[in-house]
Amino acid sequence: MDLLNTLVDKGLRRELPTREEALAVLATSDDELLDVVAAAGKVRRQWFGRRVKLNYLVNLKSGLCPEDCSYCSQRLGSKAGILKYTWLKPEEASRAAAAGVAGGAKRVCLVASGRGPTDRDVDRVTRTIETIKEENEGIEVCACLGLLSDGQADRLRTAGADAYNHNLNTSEETYGAITTTHTYADRVETVQQAQAAGLSACSGLIAGMGESDKDLVDVVFALRDLDPDSVPVNFLIPFEGTPLAKEWNLTPQRCLRILAMVRFVCPDVEVRLAGGREVHLRSMQPLALHLVNSIFLGDYLTSEGQAGQADLDMIADAGFEVEGAGTTTLPRHRADALADGCGTSAEPAGCGSHGGGGGCGPCGGHGEQEPVAVADADADVPAGRTEANGAPRTDLVAVRRRGAGTDLAPNA
Ligand code: SF4
Repeated sequence: MDLLNTLVDKGLRRELPTREEALAVLATSDDELLDVVAAAGKVRRQWFGRRVKLNYLVNLKSGLCPEDCSYCSQRLGSKAGILKYTWLKPEEASRAAAAGVAGGAKRVCLVASGRGPTDRDVDRVTRTIETIKEENEGIEVCACLGLLSDGQADRLRTAGADAYNHNLNTSEETYGAITTTHTYADRVETVQQAQAAGLSACSGLIAGMGESDKDLVDVVFALRDLDPDSVPVNFLIPFEGTPLAKEWNLTPQRCLRILAMVRFVCPDVEVRLAGGREVHLRSMQPLALHLVNSIFLGDYLTSEGQAGQADLDMIADAGFEVEGAGTTTLPRHRADALADGCGTSAEPAGCGSHGGGGGCGPCGGHGEQEPVAVADADADVPAGRTEANGAPRTDLVAVRRRGAGTDLAPNA
């Protein structure tokens, strides 16, 4: 297939595909799926071998958010029966983080609901980062606290944070249909503040919110322009009690095509399979390891993932290996650029150079999403319904009842 040969050649050279080529990946048929996975898998192996980086989420503060992100179970007015609690103490967060580290995670992602942190919140998170770093040598810490105000990114960097997550989530064009309490531009600004402070930027998307193929390509190209070091790809988890709980749009095949497209557009970037993999990829999860080089271990912010041991077994059974703490995740050219304080690849390849790009909203939206109906004027069928097959697997959506904020041990 000429398209795939072209995309492999470009990926191996860190040359960007065209928008038309990215759209063509999303338009491939199920008959072509294994060819698509094999092609993107070659690009994945070129830059990341067979390594899988494990990340572990710690929800520092859950629910009761004043923002209205439509995909989120923690949003204003959410009726989802999620855990609700205020800030974990540093030692509580550190205990949760240690469980993830014991399970093989090399990065801990500290997430808090809310529009953005107050300076007092940054003080709290500073103490938490310091405690986690003291107790877990070599651990990477990523903070995800929402929209940042002036100076907060610098304070987090000084506290020892390695990275900051803020997802773009969807295209600029459809952003207003998802959230009204902040803007796409707000998100872009926060990612850029993090980069300017020397933090490794993590910014990704949520698929399955009713968006069109064009929206998906738009957001991935916007991410490429923003040039994060890691791109989490979430698949919408339609929670009961959220406005779009009945919107189930994804198939395993669709998820794999999306991941392949992201890999071709961001060949040398840490592409992470994030929330929703168990719900939407189901038994096809191992194929996704040929596309992504990073996953979350265990549970998500407000939903439960498969058992941490099942994640480890899946990686081993599929012939991949958990990335060790002593291994640098990013290819040398990106790691060197980050160490130099550039925070981005110096070359106009990979996930692109700094530029416009999008940002991610308050909180990363790590898999606590509810879908939003976004009209696609060009579609013959309602947007997001083109590939729905079978009955929605609502039985796979499990509210988190263990780990942070409970007396039960974390899943890791
Ligand atoms: S994504 Fe973050 S800011 Fe948006 S509603 Fe959820 S917790 Fe609040």
